[in-house]
Amino acid sequence: MLGASGSIGQQTLNLLQAFPERYELVGLSVHTQLDKVWPYLSQLRPKWLAITDAATYQRARALVPPSIQLVGPEEFYEVLVTHPADIAVNGIVGAAGFRASWQVLHYTQGRLALANKESLVFGGQWLAPYRNRIIPVDSEHSAIFQCLQGEKKEAVARLVLTASGGPFHGRKRAELSRITPHEALRHPVWRMGSRITIDSATLMNKALEIIEAYWLFAIPHRQIEVWIHPECLVHSLVLFKDGSMKAQLSPPDMRFPIWYALSYPERQVLPDLWQGPLPTLHFEAVDEITFPSLRLARQALDQSPSAPAVLNAADEIAVAAFLEGRIGFLDIFYWLEWALAQPEAYLAPATFSELAAIEQAFRQRLTAKLPQSIHASGG
Ligand code: MG
Repeated sequence: MLGASGSIGQQTLNLLQAFPERYELVGLSVHTQLDKVWPYLSQLRPKWLAITDAATYQRARALVPPSIQLVGPEEFYEVLVTHPADIAVNGIVGAAGFRASWQVLHYTQGRLALANKESLVFGGQWLAPYRNRIIPVDSEHSAIFQCLQGEKKEAVARLVLTASGGPFHGRKRAELSRITPHEALRHPVWRMGSRITIDSATLMNKALEIIEAYWLFAIPHRQIEVWIHPECLVHSLVLFKDGSMKAQLSPPDMRFPIWYALSYPERQVLPDLWQGPLPTLHFEAVDEITFPSLRLARQALDQSPSAPAVLNAADEIAVAAFLEGRIGFLDIFYWLEWALAQPEAYLAPATFSELAAIEQAFRQRLTAKLPQSIHASGG
């Protein structure tokens, strides 16, 4: 379990705890939040615990029982290869997740249950050759993956990703300029981490999911649509060439796609089943004038191999600045547009180390350009 302290990590550990006879936890990683995994160590008894933050690792050395191999930041990628698992769940937050995905796919025979969408947004071209060992955990991609079971790729006409619309669905640009981080963090349906919650308010989450679907399912982005679906029960749909459409539905709870990825190709019992008939379901087109994120993702895919990584880096930095009150809500879009116009977004790196260097230089340049202190008024 990589990224064990995050929202996906915690829900995965909960599932493992509920079904101890079916799964053995080989190892887990955390960055700084050791307290979040502490209760699971005695119960799930992993072979190794990796701590990717150097200071937290030093502190943990005296605390972790000798029965668990403690792995520091230097050896993290290595332990994924020397102590492989049948399934690696990648729930690491942000672009840091790519390298872990690469280690699992390139150096082991294991399956990757992928919740870290940045793995594909950053390094899709390097991970795509291993796509038959990736089981998506992102709910939309899990839905499409499930709809495609037993179908031929040539039979697919379009993929439709559903989006909740976020807390500001239906609002216009002028109304968005004074949004505070507090308002943006109140997602109507899903409980998630803070970056992904802001990303769903800007629709950047859906934009990154277009890029993710492009790599996972090897389909041109023009064949990937987005529909607003406020009930969050239909997680995505596939339109086939004969005019039939398949959808996957489940309650809006990440345990369902996690459980599917752990169980695949089986379907294992999960006690929370549907009660009663479905409520009325609504679908709407996206207001792409107010929310330009989807257009930016398509532009990035058309523009260059480095552009999606640069767009993602810009989003990580802009969202952090918004959460700290250093920029306004609409400024996030300004900096995303700006990012795609930069020279770093027009490159074709040969290796992922080269892309990482480009992305790192870009991050520094953007960070230096953003206001360093809390800005006085909205806008
Ligand atoms: Mg999703």
